[in-house]
Amino acid sequence: MTTDVPRRIGVLTSGGDAQGMNAAVRAVVRAGIHFGAEVFAIREGYQGAVDGTGIVQLGWKDVSGIQHLGGTVIGTARSAEFRERAGRRRAAYHLVSHGIDRIVVIGGDGSLTGANTLAEEWPSLLAELVQDGELGQQVADAHPSLMITGIVGSIDNDMIGTDMTIGADSALHRIIEAVDAIASTAASHQRTFVVEVMGRRCGYLALTAAIAGGCDFALIPEAPPGDGWQDELCESLRSARARGRRDSIVIVAEGARDRSGRPITAHEVRNELQTRLGEQARVTILGHVQRGGAPSAFDRSMATMMGFEAAASLLAASPGDPPQLVGLHRNRVRRAPLMRAVRENQRVASLVDVGRYDEALAARGDSYAELFELLRRLSHPKESPAAEGRRLGILLSGGLAPGMNTAVRAATRLALDAGHVVLGIEAGFSGLSEGRVRELTIGDVEGWTGRGGAELGSRREELADSQVYAVARAVETYRIDALLVISGFDGYRQAHRLSTERRRYPSLGIPVVCLPATIDNNLPGTELTVGSDTAVNTIVQTIDRVKQSAMAANRCFVIETMGRECGYLAMLSALSAGAEQVYLPETGVTVRSLQADVERMARRFRDGRGLFLAVRAEGADTHYSTDVIARIFEAEGGDLYDVRQIVLGHAQQGGDPSPFDRVLATRLAAEAIDAITEALDAGRADAIAVGLEHGGLTRTSLAHFEDLVDWEHRRPLTQWWLHLTRILTALAQEPEPQQ
Ligand code: ADP
Repeated sequence: MTTDVPRRIGVLTSGGDAQGMNAAVRAVVRAGIHFGAEVFAIREGYQGAVDGTGIVQLGWKDVSGIQHLGGTVIGTARSAEFRERAGRRRAAYHLVSHGIDRIVVIGGDGSLTGANTLAEEWPSLLAELVQDGELGQQVADAHPSLMITGIVGSIDNDMIGTDMTIGADSALHRIIEAVDAIASTAASHQRTFVVEVMGRRCGYLALTAAIAGGCDFALIPEAPPGDGWQDELCESLRSARARGRRDSIVIVAEGARDRSGRPITAHEVRNELQTRLGEQARVTILGHVQRGGAPSAFDRSMATMMGFEAAASLLAASPGDPPQLVGLHRNRVRRAPLMRAVRENQRVASLVDVGRYDEALAARGDSYAELFELLRRLSHPKESPAAEGRRLGILLSGGLAPGMNTAVRAATRLALDAGHVVLGIEAGFSGLSEGRVRELTIGDVEGWTGRGGAELGSRREELADSQVYAVARAVETYRIDALLVISGFDGYRQAHRLSTERRRYPSLGIPVVCLPATIDNNLPGTELTVGSDTAVNTIVQTIDRVKQSAMAANRCFVIETMGRECGYLAMLSALSAGAEQVYLPETGVTVRSLQADVERMARRFRDGRGLFLAVRAEGADTHYSTDVIARIFEAEGGDLYDVRQIVLGHAQQGGDPSPFDRVLATRLAAEAIDAITEALDAGRADAIAVGLEHGGLTRTSLAHFEDLVDWEHRRPLTQWWLHLTRILTALAQEPEPQQ
């Protein structure tokens, strides 16, 4: 075979469908074409390869506008034939006959195991086909091995080798929509609900749903409850009622079991509750709803990154290279040997099956064990502070970020559990200087987990000298021993300032811990801030609607997102929504780039495409505003297309927090309370910010901020997501045809 023959790759989705698979397919197809390959869909999973009729070439436009669709547009199936060697022989024959010896498999561990088997058998299958006269020796020689890259599509998040699987975040969205809806009816009637979620061997969905839903109890396969769990459960619900909770929701994973391995069903839990509590309880089994609906922004962006990486690595592979798995590890897409991950996954599944639960829990990784422990701590907090409890003030500062209330609720429960007195400070630092301080109980923050806005009130503020004095006085007056500041950039600055004024005002010599909460995601010491995931989802949902509105017309949309001088919101929403262009403050806008966009746009519309989507971060450029860019496009468009500009505005700060933001807020609140308690116990006056970096919780001294921040542009000096521009551009710009 000469090097002039384009390499051919196949892409298939197999096993259970998952939201986000389409974004992965789109990314594989376009990245494949971008890197000079020809890409074929293998429709209906392995069955399409077995039958041969399912193998069809896909072009650039064939995968336009599919990211927002649930399920998988190339179909998925369970193929009994492929489980047999004879079926795999047919599949190998059809693949090699199409010149395909590289495939991306998107599926669960069954599908990935099947892929590995096919790769192992490939040389012998081809030899057999040659021997039986079905295949020419030359063809077999040209494709000596099958190169494979796997991506895990599974709503259960049940695969070792990736921190997240495609579909799990969207499934959580569906679950939390249901749990929120159930919570309001449960609260109205003071009724208990038992909600069953998917997860036969992995309790990720149940565990995170319980944390994000503010539920006190989750039954998961890897951590069966001990004997007498029924009493513990009823006692927990009874005491929650006694402190004013009106809604009680118990989450049960479908694979929940007791210590002897006997399944615990949602109906059994309901019956136990009815008998022991003497009140009616209701069961809701969410079932396939969890697989449905539009993929979340995270599933779209992660699947896009994974699909791009899968195509790139597959095309860089040489015959004989072992199959790879593209997964997410510590917030980065990375490759690992496929078989190692599959084997490890099967080991964990069998640990659950044989009742070695502690090992199974540990094998799922640190953050899984951390979530499990977190739910345990949140579920049964002490209800009143210790007699000599230290006094913790909690305040919010800066623009609204969905998840602020979640953080306050979690911090309050965990602080009370640690024996502290919790003081809610209204309206930020100025509220503190004015003495707007009240004690918070568990009952006060009940129901705040999923509530958007900021119940304590938040303000954008720059403290005047006189206010610093007033804050120092208030700290003294209210005997505040430590301060938790849940805020964005300005709040961090004020906290930093207070910590530098300690010599002048000794009362400020207390632990101060900042918890990052801003939709802008522009804070140092953390890769993600509370609120940004919700905002990206809001933007992406709006763009979905905008795109639909333009179906009939030749139209360019210029959509402006918030973010000040940080382009995170624009970048992630552009990637998730499949925008053609993104304008970022980090890279600016030039007249040359606008001209190139105009030319590209004209080519697209002449080529029969109806839509061009550009996302512009509000601080992208001082000269080329959204209006100016829209006018330039309009002026150049003539009769070919028209232009609309949309400034999304404050809708981006509103809405109830996404499941991810709720879990993040809760994890960060726990870390903050731990940091405060440790500092108080040690008699230190730490001034730090908690954060999430490389997937793990971190603490950064506020004194280091000078080295981490670009003060002029109000953003961190290094930003992990900037490289995504390369992926966006590769997937948005169709290569010119070669003559
Ligand atoms: P998932 O990929 O979601 O775990 P399944 O376990 O049902 O779903 O697998 C999907 C398909 O992958 C199966 O129908 C079969 O065609 C193929 N497959 C699964 N396990 C194997 C295996 N051990 N050997 C060969 N093919 C397999």
